[in-house]
Amino acid sequence: MDPEVQKLIQREEQRQEEQIGLIASENFASKAVLEATGSVFTNKYSEGYSRKRYYAGNEVVDDMEELAIERAKKLFGAEHANVQPYSGSPANMEVFFALLQAGDTILSLDLAQGGHLTHGSPVNFSGKGYRFIHYSLDRETETIDYDKVAEQAAQEKPKLILSGFTAYPRQVDFKRMAKIAAEVGAYSMADISHISGLVVAGEHVSPFPETDVVMTTTHKTLRGPRGAMIMCKEEIAKQIDKAVFPGMQGGPHNHSNAAKAVAFAEAMTPEFKAYAGQIVRNAKALAEGLKQKGFRLVSGGTDTHLLLVDLTPKKVTGRQAQLGLEKAGIIQNMNMIPYDTRKPFDPSGLRLGTPGVTTRGMKEPEMEKIADFIDRSVQHIEDDAYLEGVKQEVKEFATKFPVYR
Ligand SMILES: *Cc1c(COP(=O)(O)O)cnc(C)c1O
Repeated sequence: MDPEVQKLIQREEQRQEEQIGLIASENFASKAVLEATGSVFTNKYSEGYSRKRYYAGNEVVDDMEELAIERAKKLFGAEHANVQPYSGSPANMEVFFALLQAGDTILSLDLAQGGHLTHGSPVNFSGKGYRFIHYSLDRETETIDYDKVAEQAAQEKPKLILSGFTAYPRQVDFKRMAKIAAEVGAYSMADISHISGLVVAGEHVSPFPETDVVMTTTHKTLRGPRGAMIMCKEEIAKQIDKAVFPGMQGGPHNHSNAAKAVAFAEAMTPEFKAYAGQIVRNAKALAEGLKQKGFRLVSGGTDTHLLLVDLTPKKVTGRQAQLGLEKAGIIQNMNMIPYDTRKPFDPSGLRLGTPGVTTRGMKEPEMEKIADFIDRSVQHIEDDAYLEGVKQEVKEFATKFPVYR
């Protein structure tokens, strides 16, 4: 009944099929997840929690939400799970709201070094409502110096210490971070939005059981619907639940929560474990391929799903590269690198991730091919005709690995 929107959906599907998507936070949800997202659960209001709703008619929603919670707890080994958060940003606000008073001190990594907007950026609600102190990466290794974080924690006495990032290519020692927090009487919080799929597959060290509260989005490496969840120790479960509802949200998005349950079941399979392993192998292969072509990688490489490329040696800026590669059908994003001398709207770096291309079935040989596409495009970054040629090659290459077709 709506050919206009139908056309847009078809165009977007075609774009996803024909381009190479390397946005580190993106993925392709399964048809089962899409189906649950498009289900009749979207029609139901159910403010409150299972068996304690403010509306009638929730017996099925209650069963569904309980199933999602049970699967989440089993998948992550968590004591408590709240699957209602609409997305990662509100979920982070909900954790702060649950555990802190306005103006309390939080120790986190700066946005410019790989933290998230909601980890205290001055333009974000987090930065306005709380006092953020930032730790920084070591200049030499471009990784976290845990001794320095411990020193800073002892000095600043934060109420909460936050780890988990958006542009950090290395493993995070969550156990060490939780220990640092415990030593100064702070809550430990891990935001594993990017890496939760790797965590459940054992490809990244888990923040459980040490960390007090863990937030993750469900749509990144976990490959579920857009949304988020908060997991925590039993002793703070009531505070977390109250902060989500009625503290911050109204009616839960039941269609998303049903799809989260589907994604959790998928993530428990051996296929998903193999998938997560391949994500990391692909990221390493892409890193190697780029290094061989003279690109510099922040921290020298990766042990996750993402890489941060420093374009300085290529004499191209992040913005130039993002726009030029887009013309070649390669979708990624410009990004600040640690101690970047350039500005966020035209930084020195490019962030690349392999969750999406791995879902398509691509493996190490394809990563070499992608490194070649990127290298040739960067060499001809101002040559639109050349980039158009690469775009045709990319289309032919990408459509050999169909997503939904
Ligand atoms: C993606 C992300 C978020 C926010 O998620 P949205 O769903 O986009 O609001 C929060 N924290 C981290 C570390 C993320 O990577």
